[in-house]
Amino acid sequence: MKTPLSHASFYDRERETRTWAERLHDLNSRFLDTLLHAYRHSNAYKELYDAASVDVSRIQGLEDIEKLPLLRMTDLMDRQRRIFPFGGFETFPARDLHRIYVNPGLLFQPGGAFESQDTSWAHALCGAGFKAGDRIINTFAYSLWPFARTMEESARQIGATVIPAGSGNTLMQVKIMQRLEVNGFLGTPGFLTTLVQRAEAMGLDLRKDLFLETALVSAEMLPDSLRTRLQEKLDMTIRQAYGTVYLGCIGFECEALSGLHVPDALWMEIVDPATGRQVPAGSVGEIVATSFNRAYPMIRMATGDLSCLSPEPCPCGRTGPLLKKIIGRIDQAAKVGGVFIHPWQADEVMAHYREVFKYQIVITRRNHVDLMAVTVELKEDLRDTLSLQRTMEREIEELMGVRGSVQIVPRGTLPDRHKKIEDQRKWD
Ligand SMILES: [Zn+2]
Repeated sequence: MKTPLSHASFYDRERETRTWAERLHDLNSRFLDTLLHAYRHSNAYKELYDAASVDVSRIQGLEDIEKLPLLRMTDLMDRQRRIFPFGGFETFPARDLHRIYVNPGLLFQPGGAFESQDTSWAHALCGAGFKAGDRIINTFAYSLWPFARTMEESARQIGATVIPAGSGNTLMQVKIMQRLEVNGFLGTPGFLTTLVQRAEAMGLDLRKDLFLETALVSAEMLPDSLRTRLQEKLDMTIRQAYGTVYLGCIGFECEALSGLHVPDALWMEIVDPATGRQVPAGSVGEIVATSFNRAYPMIRMATGDLSCLSPEPCPCGRTGPLLKKIIGRIDQAAKVGGVFIHPWQADEVMAHYREVFKYQIVITRRNHVDLMAVTVELKEDLRDTLSLQRTMEREIEELMGVRGSVQIVPRGTLPDRHKKIEDQRKWD
């Protein structure tokens, strides 16, 4: 066992470092309460469980959770299209509603009094190193979806001050960070990179003119190389967290960087996506989580993200489950010549090239041989792209274990919203 970090910070140290038995006892009763409440008051769960012939009265606790079917985003979407506005997953009368959030895919989510009271993102903020009195710029998008507000509320819970900046106007944001001596950042790694580039273009000295100490980034993968580069430039700590707007925070990094700590506010499983059964400890599977929000419960919600549990305890002293890292998406990972390739691997390679604006991997098949092509758009035109192309190809082969041909194309060739891995193979 490693020595505990004496200076690790917690939102609720007692709860986060309790024994497994205490945790299980607590989460078990919250799970049963949520399940019974959902079955009695939500039409969706009643229908889904009746259709799957689940006898809810026979679910004794978390040890029986695998008997419940997985809830997929497609279930949520299908039911919302038929039953206005929340697909019957809510457990309250619609007239009591204070606010409706709109998530990507035009999926509605109840807000106001029905927002979860959970503190999972506050746990993540403390884990990342934020503290009371910090002045944090929140650059998550404020319109329509709830995430930016959730982060703001979480910052309030830890006693910090938020500047609700949203994701526009980078010039203004850099000036705000400078004038208000902002020491915390919330947003995507991509947006932090953009702000840093903007500050550099304005001629600022990143360490003297900006005051950033801590960042919590989310919603995008953070390649290690990008983290290292930004941390060094700004002389700050960058930690990442992972979650969904339906489930809250599912994992966050602490100072020790041992993986992603799963907060106590939910029950997390790693399952075989095809069967919904839990995989053996340490195996890769899909992350499935159950939240305890009684108003809008999400029971066994499948995230589509792949990960595995770390067997090692973290030196910070947190005793809950620890995810190694997010390995990829069940719907975006692809096998090329028998080798799995994941978007995060490609991100790691591309993060080595500051010139890259965006890229896409296209997989095709000719004469029963898989072919991988990488289409790359650069930030600025280069006169000689051939050597860059060759270096990238060599690195792709080394780091991804698959040969890929790189093609550099003019800006605007790739569509705005594109999949990182486009699998065009036909198998029929
Ligand atoms: Zn830790």
